[in-house]
Amino acid sequence: MSAFAFHTTAQIIVRPGASGGIAEIAGKKLGRSVLFVTDSGIRNVGLDQSAIRSLEDAGHSVTVFDAVEADPSLDTLMNSVEAARGCGATGVVALGGGSSLDVAKLTALLAGSGEDIDAAWGVGNAKGPRLPLVLIPTTAGTGSEVTPVSIITVGGEEKRGVSSPVILPDTAILDAELTVSLPAPATAATGIDAMVHAIEAYASKNANNNPVSRMLATEALKLLGTHIEAAVFTPDNLEARGAMLLGSTLAGMAFANSPVAAVHALAYPIGGTFHIPHGLSNALVLPQVLRFNAAEAENGSYRLYAELGPHAFADFEAGGGAQEDCAAFIERLAALSANIGLPQRLRDVGIGEEALPKMASDAMKQTRLLVNNPRHVDEADALAIYRAAW
Ligand SMILES: [Zn+2]
Repeated sequence: MSAFAFHTTAQIIVRPGASGGIAEIAGKKLGRSVLFVTDSGIRNVGLDQSAIRSLEDAGHSVTVFDAVEADPSLDTLMNSVEAARGCGATGVVALGGGSSLDVAKLTALLAGSGEDIDAAWGVGNAKGPRLPLVLIPTTAGTGSEVTPVSIITVGGEEKRGVSSPVILPDTAILDAELTVSLPAPATAATGIDAMVHAIEAYASKNANNNPVSRMLATEALKLLGTHIEAAVFTPDNLEARGAMLLGSTLAGMAFANSPVAAVHALAYPIGGTFHIPHGLSNALVLPQVLRFNAAEAENGSYRLYAELGPHAFADFEAGGGAQEDCAAFIERLAALSANIGLPQRLRDVGIGEEALPKMASDAMKQTRLLVNNPRHVDEADALAIYRAAW
């Protein structure tokens, strides 16, 4: 067995309604003045209210920063850091989707350490210490509550990342009640994103691909594959919502330690240029990237994909041989994505064919992801995959 390291969030609380008990769970750690990071949509529907009330009732002063947008910009991050400094924050809480969680991670880092964001980009460059940090996801998809990564959009299009165990939070609170109001398209897209995290972690060529991540990935796929349709079609099904939320977190734990690859690398230019949600961007290229990987037999990814079939789909009939099982797994994923209502082609989301070469060249910038892919991807490959997905 090869050596590996495994980092994750120290405390994970899984309970419907748990966000309303945040003061009991983490109040001591957070200290007197809490910066509460969220977005205006969540403010408007009041999803943040029970967490804020819990903190205020316990005597914390709470300053809300609710200006986080999808694909958060560097300006937004800096405004959030400013808000943390302004209120003398002793701790940071985020309640929201991956964007709010990502902004909170770097806010806790920059406000806690005073370091410069330009020195923190990349892998292992963030120093810390950060402020105490509690993350509460309201979508079952990104796994950001258990990943050491934060993605920020710089200069309008370019996605930059900070990756360091320093920005793993102290506590993640998985409160399925917060996810029942998530609309069907977002439930579908974020659910597929979580499945992609598990699949890419399982087959990652990264040197730190490890048995703990693979175990988490199969359990995640079981939860996600079994419950995604119920979560989309019966939104207030708390059982399905809880399974999706946990599945998303397990997949996050997996890929945090066995990083994702070309599906994500090719998804980023779709999100960055066309502002397509992250999960949908992944869904749009998922079958094509897996087919590309599996077509080169030497890298062995087809065997790994074949193994995942029965985990993701309870009624999967394995036994046709690894090549056949792999093909069947990819077809099932594509059929699932269509069944839960996601657009299937790049042209369906308003991307013109003439945009594909620029996207392929942008995808090549995602070297930190591409190195994990089971098969080498060059620019011509990326363009061929986009054409197949168009
Ligand atoms: Zn993702």
